[in-house]
Amino acid sequence: MTTIPVDLTRPMVPPLDGQATIDARAVSAWFGERKVLDRVSLVMPAGTVTALIGPSGCGKSTFLRTLNRMHELIPGASLAGEVFLGDKDIYDPARKLTDARKQIGMVFQKPNPFPAMSIYDNVLAGLKLTGVKASRAERDDLVEQCLAKAGLWLEVRDRLRSPGGALSGGQQQRLCIARSLAVRPKVLLMDEPCSALDPTSTRRIEQTIGELAHEVTIVIVTHNMQQAARVSQQCAFFLAEQGTPGAIVEAGPTEKIFSAPVDPRTSDYVHGRF
Ligand code: ADP
Ligand code: MG
Repeated sequence: MTTIPVDLTRPMVPPLDGQATIDARAVSAWFGERKVLDRVSLVMPAGTVTALIGPSGCGKSTFLRTLNRMHELIPGASLAGEVFLGDKDIYDPARKLTDARKQIGMVFQKPNPFPAMSIYDNVLAGLKLTGVKASRAERDDLVEQCLAKAGLWLEVRDRLRSPGGALSGGQQQRLCIARSLAVRPKVLLMDEPCSALDPTSTRRIEQTIGELAHEVTIVIVTHNMQQAARVSQQCAFFLAEQGTPGAIVEAGPTEKIFSAPVDPRTSDYVHGRF
């Protein structure tokens, strides 16, 4: 395995440029014979937060999984279309799967730190997969930086050797964010990251999202319209009507989606009339 040293003169996450823009082009997805996403196209610009909204079952999670090549890991699943990260096609057969994955972090609804592993080791867990070699001092520094960015450092700096599972739900979710940041991703995908959390933890995560958005392109699935309005600059409204595959009804600046949507179905959904 090739190893690259951790370069601490480099910013923790690279400065954003066009290379962090995600451009999904006509993405369709199937589970077996059943088509669940129909030609979804969406540009998620570098340095912004895009919220994916819509009723359950309309394909939001599936779409998110096509953005980091997780969809193809599900037995029987297939897809069509293209996903570009900057100017690189993440489905280019010449590129290694881990190449794309390293650049795209993911956080799920249920916080999933390794419960028996220490907080310190949880942060570094992803790093091992990338083959990065680092000295003890470099690792210490990276752990501190990631935890600080995830808004957790001050709460855990005195107990880095405690197991991840001993933290509260909200802290565990921030630990998962810290873990995903350790590989210096360009993109962070979040699938209902606050659905299992109390309001205080939710606000804490939203604050973290706001701070990270300057450095990482964020795509978040949420059922909470206030949250979508608070954290995102762009919203995409998904819908799967009467057995049809999920598709984007309308996407645009968050303010417009909430105050002056073009499609009456968008208006009904964001105002809770669904
Ligand atoms: P959302 O996240 O918007 O609730 P999903 O992307 O999870 O929607 O699901 C879209 C559709 O795909 C749903 O009809 C769901 O039942 C189906 N689906 C999701 N995951 C699987 C799977 N692993 N196998 C088969 N069907 C699935
Ligand atoms: Mg989902």
